[in-house]
Amino acid sequence: MPRPISATVSLPSLRHNLAIVRHKLNSISSQNNRKSPFVWAVIKANAYGHGIANAVKAFSNADGLAMLDIDEAILSRQAGWQGPILLLEGFFQPEDIQQFEQHRLHATVHCFEQLEMLERVTLSRPLDIFIKLNTGMNRLGFSADQFPRAWSQATRLAERGVVGKLGKMTHFARADEISSLTQTQISSFIQLTGHLPGPSSICNSAATLTPECWLSLPDEQEQWVRPGICLYGSSPFALHKAAQLDLRPAMTLRSQVISVRRIDAGEGVGYGHRFIADQPLTVGVVACGYADGYPRHAPTGTPVAVKGVMTRLLGRVSMDMLAVDLTPVPGPAVGDSVVLWGEGGPSVDDVAEAAGTIGYELLCAVAPRVQKLVIDC
Ligand SMILES: *Cc1c(COP(=O)(O)O)cnc(C)c1O
Repeated sequence: MPRPISATVSLPSLRHNLAIVRHKLNSISSQNNRKSPFVWAVIKANAYGHGIANAVKAFSNADGLAMLDIDEAILSRQAGWQGPILLLEGFFQPEDIQQFEQHRLHATVHCFEQLEMLERVTLSRPLDIFIKLNTGMNRLGFSADQFPRAWSQATRLAERGVVGKLGKMTHFARADEISSLTQTQISSFIQLTGHLPGPSSICNSAATLTPECWLSLPDEQEQWVRPGICLYGSSPFALHKAAQLDLRPAMTLRSQVISVRRIDAGEGVGYGHRFIADQPLTVGVVACGYADGYPRHAPTGTPVAVKGVMTRLLGRVSMDMLAVDLTPVPGPAVGDSVVLWGEGGPSVDDVAEAAGTIGYELLCAVAPRVQKLVIDC
């Protein structure tokens, strides 16, 4: 028997979350008499830990898939995805461009070095690209000064038949919180690209779920949003829970209690005795540790569900085990079911918050040794 820990990925929940996003886009667009944006479902990092093949199956209704690893793009093609694929960091070296051609991948182009690679390549079919503008994130993209020159160079490449469809994109730094920066970023994007033909793409999950962001772009432009985290049932906002957004957890991390003991007041639990009981307690040991991807920095009090009862983590997380308070659980026993996060337990966002991180990191970090199960019905 393998260890009793598993991560279950629910394809119906993935589908539901995409449908929720789509529904919001459609209903707000029709209220505003405009076309609904197209959706790139972002499936980078092994679909935020959910598996590329699972994501391809569940997101068959998306207009495109976006990621940044060519191998994941090829896996998506092998899984049967025929639609557009956008590589969010583009190509890294000239040899990559052949693969873009072979697998019909769209490239983000964010620096002059990439344009130079395109100058030197011969292709039998033009490559569709999005030129990325840096509007304040200061990660990837041409500065406002550089953008017009990059756009002209790309236009010349299009005239030569190297570039096909030419679009433009940017990325927000603070769309997940209330910040005037987002409006500033939108304004600079419109100022530099509003008059240019071709599709635009600006919105991550937080901005996709904040209609003002995509409603700001001119309606006559074809628009593509790029939601990621919300499709997996985790909230992009610190202030709104996923459930309030009608999102469902797509991954449930489960395990079991493998040991039960009573301890007296004054006794400590685990490495460093970071938890000392102030009254007699029943302590359960769960087969889940940081080598499974559970965050080691999760402190005492981090929520966890045992047999459907919400309780708390006790002391330090070990490599393969962690301790929980079974005192509120009726008739605790070895074999009791534990939900670390997901359906029937705390949300991944609540666990992440307790551990001082974000749901993204926990979902991506589930270790290869954790058995993956898939629900598809
Ligand atoms: C990851 C990523 C997204 C998706 O972000 P979420 O916050 O997960 O919605 C969109 N665009 C780019 C460029 C990204 O790197």
